[in-house]
Amino acid sequence: MEGIRIKGIKDDRVLAAIGKVPRHLFMDSSFLDFAYKDQAFPIGAGQTISQPLTVAIQTQLLQVERFEKILEIGTGSGYQAAVLLEMGATVYTIERQRELYLKAQLILPQIGYNPKLFYGDGYKGLPTYGPFDKIIITAGAPVIPEDLLSQLKVGGRMVVPMGPREKQTMYVLVKTSETEYYKEGHGTFVFVPMLKGLDK
Ligand code: SAH
Repeated sequence: MEGIRIKGIKDDRVLAAIGKVPRHLFMDSSFLDFAYKDQAFPIGAGQTISQPLTVAIQTQLLQVERFEKILEIGTGSGYQAAVLLEMGATVYTIERQRELYLKAQLILPQIGYNPKLFYGDGYKGLPTYGPFDKIIITAGAPVIPEDLLSQLKVGGRMVVPMGPREKQTMYVLVKTSETEYYKEGHGTFVFVPMLKGLDK
């Protein structure tokens, strides 16, 4: 916690939420000793739980406010969704790996977190539930997911790591009208890829 504060996370609400969510409950038991280290770890199906600093950076860039409707792409372990719920948002989250979707569906309600969980292809978003105040993508996108941009409210923000497989730039896209947005880059990261279609 102190570690990520030192690394430039200034939003106290983000730090408080990360301090409250028990990260070890989202990890495989073989990695429990490492739950509070600032590292990414396997969560099954070849995927990883993002390192706390990455979760903190994405969450801070999203500028979460209470009661906002947020769409997350890439539920994974459910940890990022729990952090957003802890900040008072309403969370919709999509996962394309059935095994991870089922695991998240089991664990989250047990520890008091109730996002709306969907098994599906995040590239398509959730047109019937939108538009969203904010959208957070937790996998590396090769291009801007246009369908998601159309499900963002005017004035809304999308935080998306974008670029080739080896390394992505963290972008914040701010939608300024139905047809326009601007984007800001916030450093480089390496995420697992955002893939098309469903797994299994
Ligand atoms: N937010 C997660 C991080 C998981 S890693 C956490 O807190 O643990 C990224 C996740 O994105 C993986 O689980 C991967 O399966 C998922 N993913 C990749 N492409 C996707 C897509 N098109 N739609 C939905 N999920 C996707």
